Amino acid sequence: MEKVIIIGSGPAGLTAAIYTSRANLSPLLFEGFQAGGMPGGQLMTTNIVENFPGFPEGIPGPQLMEKIRQQAERVGTRFIMEDVQEIKVDKQSFTVVSMIGQEYEAQSIIIATGATARRLPLDSEKKFWTKGVSACAVCDGALPIFRDKDLAIIGGGDSAVEEAGHLTNFAGKVYIIHRRDELRASKILRKRAEEHPKIEILWNKTVIEFLGEQILTGLKLKDTKTGEVSELPVAGAFEAIGHAPNTGFLKGQLETNESGYLITRPNSMMTSVEGIFAAGDVQDPKYRQAVSAAGSGCMAATDCERWICGMYCD
Ligand SMILES: Cc1cc2nc3c(=O)[nH]c(=O)nc-3n(C[C@H](O)[C@H](O)[C@H](O)COP(=O)(O)OP(=O)(O)OC[C@H]3O[C@@H](n4cnc5c(N)ncnc54)[C@H](O)[C@@H]3O)c2cc1C
Repeated sequence: MEKVIIIGSGPAGLTAAIYTSRANLSPLLFEGFQAGGMPGGQLMTTNIVENFPGFPEGIPGPQLMEKIRQQAERVGTRFIMEDVQEIKVDKQSFTVVSMIGQEYEAQSIIIATGATARRLPLDSEKKFWTKGVSACAVCDGALPIFRDKDLAIIGGGDSAVEEAGHLTNFAGKVYIIHRRDELRASKILRKRAEEHPKIEILWNKTVIEFLGEQILTGLKLKDTKTGEVSELPVAGAFEAIGHAPNTGFLKGQLETNESGYLITRPNSMMTSVEGIFAAGDVQDPKYRQAVSAAGSGCMAATDCERWICGMYCD
């Protein structure tokens, strides 16, 4: 019987591993394989992280994740590079079923499986990913390649409009490309975007191709009403078309909000099931940053340690 099994090897899971290791809980961590991204999580797809404390020059995402993993390993975390396909919830304990069907029993579980940014299913999008295309304006918008350039946000919800506002701090001009003739964002955000001198909203437009040679230089757009095709020169395009929390393997056993994000209890990282905790983007539709994910990994580990002691200490 394991004391704690952690699922996910992004900043949240690895930080939870460091804390639970140092609390002598000897965690077993499923790093993932293909489900919901890759071992190391979302930062494995980003060139440079400039806002994680402790790295004044910035650090490549994969290098940051390798360092956090080494730290978790050094304090005693054990790793399995597999996806979890299912968890079984029992009153006395939990069973984690790995991709190859092996079963692991645990007193507690910390779920840190992150969320997957939705991306446009275009070959050209893949070609320019990290070469001008990103799914996180708050993370990448301030990078030197985007400074004072014209940029585009793709989407029309609250995140799209908030991220457009963020980009106005660095960009020349910010286009919001929206496939409808009205933003889905809240009234106040809509008004702010429509009145902002640096923001222009291109209504009824979808992106049909990302353009450029080595790096992104523009977008090919199609008008959803007239079918007219046009080109828009931009140095960066940020997809803000939503995220899908990686909770499919839980098969509805834990309470989620309407978008599928795990719900934790007030002032706690415990989910609706006692003994199962959640950390990082899988329970956070709002902040979605590496440092906030790491912070919540610490909180989940601390809550988990106290709960295990309350249940099993003499
Ligand atoms: C392009 C991009 C750039 C970004 N840049 C920055 C930045 O510069 N600064 C910043 O602070 N944030 C940035 N972010 C956001 C940041 O990456 C996330 O907020 C952070 O990684 C969330 O951490 P997490 O641990 O919750 O989840 P993730 O990093 O998403 O990790 C989830 C983990 O769960 C695993 N997993 C999923 N399903 C399963 C399963 N069924 N079984 C086992 N394992 C599973 C995955 O393999 C992965 O290891 C960026 C995001 C993107 C997409």
